[in-house]
Amino acid sequence: MAPRAHQLQVFNSLSGQKEPFFPLHPERVGMYVCGPTVYSDVHLGNCRTFLSFDLIYRYLRHLGYSVRYVRNITDAGHLENDADEGEDKIAKKARLEQIEPMEIVQRYTVGFRDIMQRFNALPPSIEPTATGHIVEQISMIEALIEKGMAYSINGSVYFDVPLYTAQGGNYGVLSGRVTDELIHNTRELEGQSEKRSPLDFALWKKAGPNHIMRWKSPWGEGFPGWHLECSAMGNKYLGETFDIHGGGMDLKFPHHECEIAQSQSAHGAPPVRYWLHGNMLTLNGKRMSKSTGNTLLPLELFETGSPLLDKTYSPSVVRFFMMQAHYRSVLDFSNEALLAAEKGYHRLMEALGRLERILPGSGPSDFDWKAWEQECYAAMDDDFNSPMLIAHLFEAVRVINALSEGKGHISETDLDRVRSQMNVFVFELLGLETPVLSSQEGPVEGLVQLLIELRLAARSDRDWALSDRIRDRLLELGISLKDGKEGTEWSRV
Ligand code: AMP
Ligand code: ZN
Repeated sequence: MAPRAHQLQVFNSLSGQKEPFFPLHPERVGMYVCGPTVYSDVHLGNCRTFLSFDLIYRYLRHLGYSVRYVRNITDAGHLENDADEGEDKIAKKARLEQIEPMEIVQRYTVGFRDIMQRFNALPPSIEPTATGHIVEQISMIEALIEKGMAYSINGSVYFDVPLYTAQGGNYGVLSGRVTDELIHNTRELEGQSEKRSPLDFALWKKAGPNHIMRWKSPWGEGFPGWHLECSAMGNKYLGETFDIHGGGMDLKFPHHECEIAQSQSAHGAPPVRYWLHGNMLTLNGKRMSKSTGNTLLPLELFETGSPLLDKTYSPSVVRFFMMQAHYRSVLDFSNEALLAAEKGYHRLMEALGRLERILPGSGPSDFDWKAWEQECYAAMDDDFNSPMLIAHLFEAVRVINALSEGKGHISETDLDRVRSQMNVFVFELLGLETPVLSSQEGPVEGLVQLLIELRLAARSDRDWALSDRIRDRLLELGISLKDGKEGTEWSRV
């Protein structure tokens, strides 16, 4: 499919509105997404952001763009406190566990990739690390010092925000923060900081005698500031200006604001055309966050369970739960919501099974499948509106279920098309996978499901005797079937 066949609209955080998406090069898209800081297990909130961008990546690819998707691994420079203070998160964990920082990085990078794979997220095209790009970061700092936009003091280098704004730079362009208010709200006491202004941010920090992660630089031994790595790596792999930069809403300030200021100053052009931000996953109404301990880990959901959960869920169900919300809406985690998502997911999967067994009729279809397909695409073209797409999929489920009960008909051409489009929407774009038996489900669950499917096939063949026999034999074995609008459900009697 040619990219031009669709007019994709994306919500650009920079303008605060939806805009038609036109990449710099007609056939190619460059997309950078801030990756995890690998000092602990990724929680479900982190996963939400990465799954939102997985959906975006999948749709751009589906539209025919050749996408270079860069998602970094932050393995140095992210301090405990966003205001350039505190210990490096990775160094701290290494100190506490008395192991090498790179062992921490390795453990949590492997864990992160494993979780992403379980969620069926596509790997990015490039996954660069901050420590692998020290040279590029140092060159960028040198360029900024040369332009007078950064200054070195006591072995650290800071970006001069007031100078940037004095020269016409708009620090606050993305987050809407106003510099005067920022100064007012900064708690730093005058004279206690080596920064010229509390707004300035670190590009390079001098490493104290006990700091283990350190590199040689023109300013002495130290380590790069967190904001710098994304600008340096984005620039290296996607160019001075690229199409999409993404991350969670919480990164707008200071991280992305600082990225804009330093890249604009180094290269004389805005670094990014479309800034996309995913909204937060909340737990009990509060943002899921490592720092407050308000988290759920993916493995707790998939396997081990947690006091917060009534049961475990497959990665595809959790993914479906996330796709049911638009990426820019807040999504609150709850057992009820997960249970409802599981039900919906199975309804969808059962309908896909039925779709394979439906036979075409001779006349035209009595449902407008062409319009339906267009509506599905219109939803995705409207800033990747996955909940709207899912609503259309359930409209199709209703028609498919009726068809499988012999109500209505579908032409052969439509049937072929719907089968392939359902696969596109459900598997290729939403990234769902067919149900697999989890380790906690015994063979009974799978066998009952199989018998339900065989009974359904018998019913569409009007083989009532076989259908009744399956139901009666199951009842003798203590399993009761109940046919409803949403398919057949079973329970133990
Ligand atoms: P970090 O490892 O803290 O740098 O975060 C990695 C990514 O997860 C960033 O893009 C964050 O915006 C995102 N993130 C953190 N908490 C949440 C949350 N509760 N919901 C959605 N995304 C989150
Ligand atoms: Zn970043």
